[in-house]
Amino acid sequence: MAAKIMIVEDEPAIQELITYNLHQTGYGTICAEDAETATILINNALPDLVLLDWMLPKMSGIEFARLLRRDERTKLIPIIMLTARTEESDKIQGLEIGADDYITKPFSPRELVARINAVLRRRSPEVSSEVVAIDDLRLDPTNHRVSVGSNIIELGPTEFRLLHFMMTHTERVYSRGQLLDRVWGDHIFVEERTVDVHIRRLRKALQSVGKDNLIQTVRGSGYRFSTEFADNQHYIKSDKTD
Ligand code: CA
Repeated sequence: MAAKIMIVEDEPAIQELITYNLHQTGYGTICAEDAETATILINNALPDLVLLDWMLPKMSGIEFARLLRRDERTKLIPIIMLTARTEESDKIQGLEIGADDYITKPFSPRELVARINAVLRRRSPEVSSEVVAIDDLRLDPTNHRVSVGSNIIELGPTEFRLLHFMMTHTERVYSRGQLLDRVWGDHIFVEERTVDVHIRRLRKALQSVGKDNLIQTVRGSGYRFSTEFADNQHYIKSDKTD
């Protein structure tokens, strides 16, 4: 799945230049000219990364970054600050509020793309194009192929994204709401039970190669992808019922 990059930048020429270069690289883009518009767009769907200009009309980029970091739903979105300011203290301030990286204008599009790739690789491996392998289960994002040995597993696009996310975030429980945010990018227009439907389909597909027990239901909490618990699912504790 191509990562969606949000560009928050009030200068049309720079917005255009970045958009063009990101599209060339295969990324999707969403543009906002100020923090207010960005907030509305983020409420609809979470981007995979935010490129955030420091000098914006009304609310500054740094204030907006602070708001994103404070909100439970947006605190993990990777942020790269764009700025014309070269002061060391500004750079430190940017990194202190939790920006993942910092780029000084003017920058080369190649450098920008390289920085985005690096941040995504580190922070959001589920949107990277690198092959993920767990034991003999292998997922290749470039050709959308999932296999176990020589067996190819047929998956729909949503099941593929779900498996990609889970294989890159193992041994942790994700609630249905978190999965909607991270896999669908949208938690408003999709019902939580949609997650259950796709988990069921994914398990069914994995069952054909005996891998369905890698995806575990943690009652009252959500789902977990784990090789550790795969053999003893009945030991999973439940504090409350669904
Ligand atoms: Ca600006």
